Amino acid sequence: MGSLSLQSSDAQAADFDPGVIVSQNPATGEKLGEVPVATEEEVRAAVARGRAAQREWGRLPVRERARRVFAFRDEIINRAEEVIDCIVREGGKTRLEALNMEVLVAVDLADYFAKRAEKLLAPHPIPLHLLKTKKSYLHYVPRGVIGIISPWNFPFSIPLGETIMGLLAGNAVVLKPSEMTPLTALKAKELFDACGLPRDLFQVVTGRGATGAALIDSGVDQVIFTGSVATGRKVAAACGERLIPCTVELGGKAPAIVCADADLERTANALVWGAFANSGQVCASVERVYAHEAVHDELVERVVTKVRALRQGDPSSDDTDVGAMTWDRQLATVEATVNGAVAAGARVLVGGKRGPGPGLFFEPTVLADCRQEMDVMHREIFGPVMPIMKVRSEEEAIQLANDSHLGLCAYVFTKDRDKGRRIAERVEAGSVIVNDVLFSFGAPETPWIGVKQSTVGFTHSDDGLRELCQKRHVNVDRFATKRELWWYPYSPKAFNFMLKAMRFLFRAKRRA
Ligand code: NAD
Repeated sequence: MGSLSLQSSDAQAADFDPGVIVSQNPATGEKLGEVPVATEEEVRAAVARGRAAQREWGRLPVRERARRVFAFRDEIINRAEEVIDCIVREGGKTRLEALNMEVLVAVDLADYFAKRAEKLLAPHPIPLHLLKTKKSYLHYVPRGVIGIISPWNFPFSIPLGETIMGLLAGNAVVLKPSEMTPLTALKAKELFDACGLPRDLFQVVTGRGATGAALIDSGVDQVIFTGSVATGRKVAAACGERLIPCTVELGGKAPAIVCADADLERTANALVWGAFANSGQVCASVERVYAHEAVHDELVERVVTKVRALRQGDPSSDDTDVGAMTWDRQLATVEATVNGAVAAGARVLVGGKRGPGPGLFFEPTVLADCRQEMDVMHREIFGPVMPIMKVRSEEEAIQLANDSHLGLCAYVFTKDRDKGRRIAERVEAGSVIVNDVLFSFGAPETPWIGVKQSTVGFTHSDDGLRELCQKRHVNVDRFATKRELWWYPYSPKAFNFMLKAMRFLFRAKRRA
């Protein structure tokens, strides 16, 4: 394994072979391997193979599909350390994060849906309120081949969760992983092949944006995209052009509202983990804190003490709290955002600069005296930075929390759970959590959903599994008559009968 300077994948392409992606360890700069850039033809061929494999898979009873998915789950459990090593080396997160936020999340999701898929995908009766001579139901039919395009920050749990749900729903999957983390996707593929499932049912095509665009263009029947707002727009437009359903899971700018009655010790612990886990490269990260003036100073003090105690460094050591960032480009964005905030008057209380090289580290950073108009308060940072702003009231905090083009997650801290619920219901976000942070992606029964520019569609949850199927309505007559009332021949008698029937059924009650 050679050593490279850390540089973005586009720079690699320019310097080296554009037909190859070089995967590097962001904590050390070590070269981990190379993968090919799949061409349009190769992507099309993968989708065609997937379609052929899906025909038989889609006809299997759901229970049998679930049995095979349990085998995949078991393979992940048995080889968890191998997967964790791969995620840590390629992505830079710590081992415990790779276990808790990636492998465990995927295993739990596989278990949850494999146990329930048969029930969830059973025909769903639709009682007809009027037409009692007929019976309707929804019938769930696999869509065919699902194209998944994924980001680098959770290179295992995001695409694997979607893949497992897609397979249980009877589909084949072609995954285009991020160019920053292709080896983790190929490790998932290795595990899949090892447990005896048909190889073409789940395929990985490596490449950059053009390979992702080729996947959308390859005849897939549905696209699930996770990534930035800018790319999400292109993906949604391309899917619109082809009239294929798509879900786009995009950026976040999660606010944390800290009320005057918050439990400050729990709040500080939650905020620190919520802002710095995975070096802040989480779409649900605590990206801005609105602290009530009554508790602001004490909260800041507790947060700063805890952040000073964080141990940043080698992600493969079990004593490390904060690992490396994954991408030099993201590191540069974080640095520019912090510098911009400081130039606009924010105060650095801890961190504020890159960590020592050669790896991609940015020190866990706390910024005080932030104001809403600063970029750091309204643009996604996606790095280990916690900007804090003092507010005069909870009402002001709600207004500022809602002053965003994004709405993925939000957090509220208060000891008064009724008040927490009232505030949560007014915050414009897909998931609002009272007295906790981040965890809801790991709860497969809850929808992973956003509002505004954060999401179109959703993943996870029982409905999320059904979204991976075509919903077809079937209606069967319960007993035969020679004709329906609204069929030919038309006549004045038929008209009068229907008019009377409507008035009898729906007439508004006369007031006494
Ligand atoms: P990105 O948009 O740059 O890339 C995402 C994927 O899209 C990559 O695989 C990339 O190769 C591919 N791609 C690029 N151009 C494409 C095109 N024209 N057509 C098809 N595919 C194309 O995002 P990223 O930098 O990998 O991820 C970071 C972003 O993802 C952040 O904004 C973060 O908030 C967001 N994210 C959102 C969620 C969520 O669930 N909402 C989860 C994780 C990350």
